[in-house]
Amino acid sequence: MDSKQDTIVEIDSKSGFCFGVINAIHQAEKALEETGSLYCLGDIVHNGAEVSRLNSKGLVTISYEQFKDLHDCTVLLRAHGEPPETYEIARQNNITIIDATCPVVLALQKKIKNAYKEAQKKNGQVLIFGKPGHAEVIGLLGQTENSAVVVNKIEDLDSIDFSRPIVLFSQTTQNIHDLKIIQDEIARRANEAGNNDFVCHDTICRRVANREADLISFAKKFDTIIFVSGKKSSNGKVLYDICKKINENTHFVSHSSDLDLIDLNPLKSVGICGATSTPKWLMEEIANKVKEINSLHNDK
Ligand code: SF4
Repeated sequence: MDSKQDTIVEIDSKSGFCFGVINAIHQAEKALEETGSLYCLGDIVHNGAEVSRLNSKGLVTISYEQFKDLHDCTVLLRAHGEPPETYEIARQNNITIIDATCPVVLALQKKIKNAYKEAQKKNGQVLIFGKPGHAEVIGLLGQTENSAVVVNKIEDLDSIDFSRPIVLFSQTTQNIHDLKIIQDEIARRANEAGNNDFVCHDTICRRVANREADLISFAKKFDTIIFVSGKKSSNGKVLYDICKKINENTHFVSHSSDLDLIDLNPLKSVGICGATSTPKWLMEEIANKVKEINSLHNDK
């Protein structure tokens, strides 16, 4: 293929918003149509471009500190879920909640709450494999009165008493292979301590887990991969790493202007994909800019 030939640019049909995020945005847009203004506790999605689009329609992102000071208004809770404390503050301050917690996260919260009750009866420990400080993890921790231990890497296991019962859950957006590594290490140490009461629940969202195989075959097909995601998205980080492993020529992009920082010449084929929090319209915008850059090169 010579450099004058048109670049093949393809958007991954399986990339983009998951149903949890689509539902949260749908609920926000519906409320905004009725009232013209709505508070959202934290970014509705970890994608700055989509947040800006909704902000321009009247969505106001608030922090937890701001939430505590609000009274007699309506606040949307995003797909990540919230700890019980958030609902208690809403009750005390007469705040109406639009609860857009993803049903998958809601089910996980219930599972963890029940496991915590069981663990208490036998001096057990609840572990959550996830990113410390992540909104979903804060919501999950809240189900255990903040007593669960968040583990993110092998070193975090050093604080665990392996002679006591252990139950492990995963944040929905974690990498399945990393969970397996943590699970195996816990099993090994528990076994060494003579403890056979260890249960691991793989609670990674299937929407995320199944993305990996699809993304690997997509990333292999192109010379260059443009991975589109907000910098705050943990799902984005996991999926970007997968693409980068398969195709070294993978670039992380959050806005179409980020393309200016990448040497895109010469281009033969470009695959555009993203996280579960990446809007389709942004991938389309980036695909158009890649085509534009390429036609400028070809005109030289
Ligand atoms: S990634 Fe899965 S669990 Fe998380 S919001 Fe989307 S559908 Fe729900």
